[in-house]
Formats: sequence, C-alpha cells, structure tokens
Amino acid sequence: MASRGILIVLSGPSGTGKDSILKELRNLRNDFEISVSCTTRGPRSGEVNGKDYYFLTKSEFMDKVDSGDMLEWATFCGNYYGTPKHELENRLNEGLNIILEIEVKGAEQVMKNSSEAVSIFVLPPSVQILKQRLKNRGLDSDEAIEMRTREAEREVALAKNYDYVVVNDNLKECANDISKIIDSEKLRAIHRKNIIKEVLNNESVVSR
Ligand code: ADP
Ligand code: 5GP
Repeated sequence: MASRGILIVLSGPSGTGKDSILKELRNLRNDFEISVSCTTRGPRSGEVNGKDYYFLTKSEFMDKVDSGDMLEWATFCGNYYGTPKHELENRLNEGLNIILEIEVKGAEQVMKNSSEAVSIFVLPPSVQILKQRLKNRGLDSDEAIEMRTREAEREVALAKNYDYVVVNDNLKECANDISKIIDSEKLRAIHRKNIIKEVLNNESVVSR
C-alpha cells in the first residue's frame, strides 16, 4: 500500500530561482507533482493556461475563494494567487508528493492548517544577485522588479519560520538539497503508518 505523499511548501522571493530549481529537481526524481495555482496576474510570454497557472479574472478568483475551493490564497504585488484544493487530497493519498510553490502569506496559512506540511524557504545568495536575476530573466518591467525586490526583504525576514532553508547559489546543489529533504521526510513516522501496519500484519516490507 502506498504511503501518503508529502505536502511540500516552497517559498522564496520572486527571482530567487524556484521554477529553475523545480525543473532541476525533475532531473533527479519523478515522484512529485507541482500544484498549478490560480492567479489574476496576466500570463507572461510563453506561459500556458492550466500548465503554468490557471489565469482567472478577479471575480472568478473570488468565486473560488467564496466556494471554499482554495487551500490558501494571498495577494502579491497587486495580484491574487491561490492553491486550488481540487484533487490535492486524492493525489496525496495516492502517495504522490505535492509541491506548492507559494509566497509567504499563503505558506503561513498552510503551515497553520496542516500539521503534515513540510516547508522550505529558498534564499538568494544576496539581494543584489536577486535583482540581477530578475533583470536577466527579462520578463518583468523595471517597476515590477523594484516592487518584487522590496517585497523580497520582507519575505526573507520570515525564512526563520520555515522547517528548512536552502540557498540557491549553485542550482544543481540546491535541487540536490531539496531532494535530500524529501528523502528524509519520507522516513518520518507520520509517513510510515502503512509500513508499520504491514509489519504488524506479518508482511515483509522493503526498506523504502
Ligand atoms: P522564481 O521562480 O523564483 O521567480 P526563476 O526560476 O524564474 O525564479 O529564476 C529567475 C532567473 O534566475 C532566471 O533567469 C533563472 O535562469 C536564473 N537563475 C535561477 N537559479 C540560478 C542560479 N543558481 N544561478 C544563476 N541564475 C539562476
Ligand atoms: P509570479 O508572479 O512570479 O509567478 O509569482 C509571484 C509570487 O506568487 C511567487 O512568490 C510565487 O511563489 C507566489 N505564488 C504562486 N502561486 C501561488 C499560490 O497559489 N498561492 C500563493 N499564496 N502564492 C503563490
């Protein structure tokens, strides 16, 4: 019987490299899904509805909030962002690890409401490097970059509330750190209930 998957909250300032880390993590393991969020932000060049985000109007977004369809939601730099509850429980029960790439206010809601969630904060090597990465990405206006950098300092101050803090200096090493965290978390007693039950039933179990 599959053990319940791990609910992983991944936060870090915009431009710190979360998307890049998750792409790198995909080269290391395949046992996770990234939750697709809802947002009222307009799509950036190349972003696909239903894959990168569900792009909603503000009234569509608030309808989902009012019907209790959001696990968490928050505003960030003038836009709304939220995690749809749809299928999340089923996927976890099927044993899939689910990663929520969300900002600090939403992360706080998940940490408060879910005793099983594991939280990871990704730090940039410095605020200066963060700003440079936002510029290099070339997807945000100068005004948006200024707003996101200002927001970053407020977010970094909250890193201490997370279970783990990793630094995205070297992308591969950072993805590897996150992979190690997932491996350790999989061994926690809370995720080992099925395996314990199997041993009590005189079944033989494998080490992972
Ligand atoms: P986020 O998802 O946190 O907003 P991205 O993954 O979009 O950040 O990364 C922002 C920019 O920084 C991208 O241009 C990406 O290629 C670059 N980047 C990410 N990680 C690193 C790294 N370790 N070293 C140098 N550049 C990086
Ligand atoms: P971006 O506009 O750069 O895609 O995302 C801006 C910020 O919103 C990032 O910090 C990202 O992690 C966060 N974010 C993305 N989806 C969600 C979500 O569903 N909920 C919350 N609370 N934040 C999100």
